[in-house]
Amino acid sequence: MITANLSWLLTVLNKGATKASGGVLNPTVLKRFTPAWNTVEFVLKAATFYESLARDIGQQVLSGVAIHRILASVEEQNNWMVASDKEILSRFLSPKIVKNNNTAISAPFGLGAVTQASIMRPYNLLKTYQDFLKKQDQFIEAQFDYQELIITKTAVQYKDIKATKIVFAEGSGVVHNPYFTIDVSPHGKKVFVGNKGEYIIIKAPELQSEAILKGPVMVIPLGDDLYKVGASYGRDDYSTNATLGACEEISAKLSKMISCDFSVVDQVTGIRPTVKDRKPLVGCLHSTKSVSFLNGLGTRGLTMAPSLAGHLYDYLENDVQIPELIDIKRFAL
Ligand SMILES: Cc1cc2nc3c(=O)[nH]c(=O)nc-3n(C[C@H](O)[C@H](O)[C@H](O)COP(=O)(O)OP(=O)(O)OC[C@H]3O[C@@H](n4cnc5c(N)ncnc54)[C@H](O)[C@@H]3O)c2cc1C
Repeated sequence: MITANLSWLLTVLNKGATKASGGVLNPTVLKRFTPAWNTVEFVLKAATFYESLARDIGQQVLSGVAIHRILASVEEQNNWMVASDKEILSRFLSPKIVKNNNTAISAPFGLGAVTQASIMRPYNLLKTYQDFLKKQDQFIEAQFDYQELIITKTAVQYKDIKATKIVFAEGSGVVHNPYFTIDVSPHGKKVFVGNKGEYIIIKAPELQSEAILKGPVMVIPLGDDLYKVGASYGRDDYSTNATLGACEEISAKLSKMISCDFSVVDQVTGIRPTVKDRKPLVGCLHSTKSVSFLNGLGTRGLTMAPSLAGHLYDYLENDVQIPELIDIKRFAL
């Protein structure tokens, strides 16, 4: 979402990764006890951006949340303590192992606590922001028809909308964009890779956890005894249907983390827009700035998006070079 100097946002709201996502802004990689890539810049920018967005739409966007990593052994306890002492991680990982007092959670080796994590309700945010833009007559909910786009070196026209630039921020939908001349997996050189993620929504009245639990899967409290659990990973899978296979896989992993009963009440899916080198795709593929892309947000798009959008804006409006690592031109044919 780029809001600065926005003239029109055109999208299909009920599709896409954002609405399905867990909404977690986690500064760390809890599989390996490492900081996420570029985490300090992304987290700081995200906090400022979402605060300002909250003021615009008159609604809180981010809430602080505890993430508790279930430690699986004494070795993991030691690794956690070593990690929590490291330079960047010391601001995000509490050095004290939390004792588990919840009998519904299986964590005999205790829990590692992540500090400075936050959570949002992505679907609610999309809806509210859509309403905000609608009031200003800046939102169209429709399928974009690429045939109707006219591009010159200095301007674009889409039906009766005239603008100086168009930014394509279409997530995995970009694979249908004729201006996206990058190899798409499973064809070509597999630069852009769709990765399907599924969550199950469970009801578990005895779980009573306010913290997000991280073990083989993530368990995200939604309120009213509901939890979002997952997610699965399906490389090269662009299908959007919920599958029994993912439900069973996630349920089996969950059963290793909690000992109370649960029932599956819903399942959601989305396609992560991931890239071969795990870095985003920002900027222009061709010489003109009329057409640009903000994509490849991968598994952590909610934290990265404000910073990446800032880089794109600075490039388009102020000619500030996009960092090479994220510049889409690295894959230009
Ligand atoms: C299951 C799952 C869990 C995740 N959990 C997290 C998490 O906890 N934290 C985190 O930071 N990230 C998470 N992610 C990743 C995150 O959701 C993505 O990185 C991010 O949402 C990508 O945003 P995007 O705007 O690029 O794409 P999308 O959210 O997919 O948005 C693209 C939009 O463009 C629209 N569109 C596409 N083509 C067209 C067209 N031709 N015409 C009109 N509209 C079009 C789509 O309908 C959609 O609304 C998760 C992803 C998945 C799938």
